[in-house]
Amino acid sequence: MDTHQRTISRIVEYSGIGLFTGEEVKLRFKPSPAGTGIIFVRTDIEGHPRVPANIEMLYDTRRLVTLEKNGVGVKSVEHVMAALAGIGIDNIEIEVNSSEVPAGDGSSLLFLQLLKGTGIKTLAEPKNTFYLQEEIRVSNGDASMVALPYDKGLSLSYILDFNGSFLNRQCFEIEMTENNFRAQIAPARTFGLYTVIEEYKKLGLGKGVTDDNSLILQEDGTVTKPLSMTPAELRFPNECVRHKILDMIGDLYLTNLTLHARIVATKSGHYLNTRLAEKIFECFKNKTHKQA
Ligand SMILES: [Zn+2]
Repeated sequence: MDTHQRTISRIVEYSGIGLFTGEEVKLRFKPSPAGTGIIFVRTDIEGHPRVPANIEMLYDTRRLVTLEKNGVGVKSVEHVMAALAGIGIDNIEIEVNSSEVPAGDGSSLLFLQLLKGTGIKTLAEPKNTFYLQEEIRVSNGDASMVALPYDKGLSLSYILDFNGSFLNRQCFEIEMTENNFRAQIAPARTFGLYTVIEEYKKLGLGKGVTDDNSLILQEDGTVTKPLSMTPAELRFPNECVRHKILDMIGDLYLTNLTLHARIVATKSGHYLNTRLAEKIFECFKNKTHKQA
């Protein structure tokens, strides 16, 4: 990966439906100078409030990642964050005219293609690179994550296991490079267990779910489309575990760091991913404090 900060070369727009709100949303990606970071801008609110995509703005991690600053929120940021991590974008302004980022096809592929399509601009300033020096563990019930020192880049592995039901255990690991992300992770779509459909109906969520933007894992291990319940054509036999790694990449990028570490995750989700991101970011801040 490039050692210098990156942004995009020109403005690019995309319109789509928010997975949870069902609202039509317009996204506008704009180049930003070095040192500005990744900023969401709510253009539908007076004064266009800005919400930095940083772990310190984390508000909620139930089902999706919500950031909030001064009472202004942006939901479902994780698949855009993963695309930005995948191509190493450090600085960008993302205008959004609703409370939720659109779902695209449920993966990061669309965002990746859009951003790459503008051309990537390398800036003069170096990236915020962090070599993890200590072991960090987080756990919640039978889900756990460990981050270990690793000087060759970012290595990610994930074990998916629904206690023997829904599907056989899936394990996947990857060295984070732009090519690996694009070919192996970015196309993996979001999925839910069949039980979430009922839960969403009760909570009034998932209004933007279509047969083209998510997958449902049935109890017998088959994967179907969420509405028609017809068999889904998978992009990879183990698409689900790959999507778990996609989420992990997006959530860890809330540190805004180019991280050198080996991460081993078992059954983790947004809650645990972001707790690990918080701890890594704390380590980074402590280290930079000591050096200052
Ligand atoms: Zn996801």
